[in-house]
Amino acid sequence: MVLKIHNTLTGTKEIFKPVDESHVRVYACGPTVYNFAHIGNARMAVANDLLINVLRTQFKKVTYVSNITDIDDKIIEAAHELNEPIKNLTTKYTKIYNEDMGYLNVQLPDVQPRATDHINEMIDLIKKLMDSGNAYEKNGHVLFHVPSYSKYGILSKRNRDEQIAGSRVDVAPFKKDPADFILWKPSPDPMPGWESPWGFGRPGWHLECSAMSEKTLGLPFDIHSGGMDLVFPHHENEIAQTCSLHKNHDPDSFAHFWFHNGFVNVEGEKMSKSIGNIRLVHNLKNQYSGEVLRLTLLSAHYRQPLNWTKEIIDQNSKMLDRLYRSLKDLQDIELTSENLSEDVMESLLDDLNTPKLLAHLNTLANKLSTANKDEKINIKNNLIAAGKILGILREDPDVWLGYNQSLNPEKEEIEGLINQRNEARRDKDFKLADEIRDKLKIKGIEIEDTNNGTIWRKDS
Ligand SMILES: [Zn+2]
Repeated sequence: MVLKIHNTLTGTKEIFKPVDESHVRVYACGPTVYNFAHIGNARMAVANDLLINVLRTQFKKVTYVSNITDIDDKIIEAAHELNEPIKNLTTKYTKIYNEDMGYLNVQLPDVQPRATDHINEMIDLIKKLMDSGNAYEKNGHVLFHVPSYSKYGILSKRNRDEQIAGSRVDVAPFKKDPADFILWKPSPDPMPGWESPWGFGRPGWHLECSAMSEKTLGLPFDIHSGGMDLVFPHHENEIAQTCSLHKNHDPDSFAHFWFHNGFVNVEGEKMSKSIGNIRLVHNLKNQYSGEVLRLTLLSAHYRQPLNWTKEIIDQNSKMLDRLYRSLKDLQDIELTSENLSEDVMESLLDDLNTPKLLAHLNTLANKLSTANKDEKINIKNNLIAAGKILGILREDPDVWLGYNQSLNPEKEEIEGLINQRNEARRDKDFKLADEIRDKLKIKGIEIEDTNNGTIWRKDS
């Protein structure tokens, strides 16, 4: 079986062949830490977590690096508004980001470099770019000269007019070319900054990822990823910074694959502050379990837009309940394999086709009621293995389904009623048995009669 991944650089789905078979290396642009992560940030983290899980089924060693942007104009502004030191703010929101992603079963990256720990590497990179004639200094600003990189636009496929339209105009007086972008800018007092050959200042955002990916992974590495909104200008500029220092300006001298996840809309609209529809993971945690949120994020193919609605969350919550019920029914079946069967794995290896995989799991759950022992073993193997890769089905089915919660204060009363009902059924007093069932229902208790006695759960 081969893994295929869509590569933004070539615009096609390609067979993934690592630079070094013995060590696959991935870099994802991480968050700018000055407030809570929203569901769009979470989609990036979950899509990459899935990518890493899939890579780990195919390759022995995979290193995943995702950075923390802890110096940036928005951070400076937020710290100023809150009258808080920048370091406090970024440390606080880095911790919250990792906790929130952990809630979604996203594993921490193997390396999580911070921009402010790599200022020297960034300064060195600027020096090299100036020596090679790709960058120039003007009034304490250092700019990358876009026409000096022959393949500019290769990732985003933007033409020159579109490139200029997307570049920042506020430094226009210092630009040789309207598409040029900032590598270093001065930090007037009391702005934070570092000493450099061009005066006290701070780096432009694009520079950090060129510096940190090279430092942590070496060049070239396998996959560079991020949200689709980063294709231009961020990733285009990273390519210019890194590849203009290599032979023929070859983009393969940086990363071989560019992996981008799609946007999240909320109730059909773009998430925006002005509409007030930004969904923060931190708030969603109060309403939904991490697995429900994660499955909802995985329910659309990672490259497609995802429309975040209450209905789609409910649908995925129901699907999880159903899969957990299947696992509960399979409790006595022993696992014989830790791997997905080939037909199920195939959908994941085909550019992480999660909708197809989830449809497979549904079909398996449907087959359960008529399955023989061998089929049951196969179903359980697949559910557990799929859960491992997808980051779901990690709970005890009994706990998930809310059966026999021992801490429930109503437990005694409920179990008393269930005993009364069982007695009534034994006495063939079905009228009384039904009355008791209704009484329980009003309390939000659902019961189920199984071979091992009556079990109950509280409706959430
Ligand atoms: Zn980046």
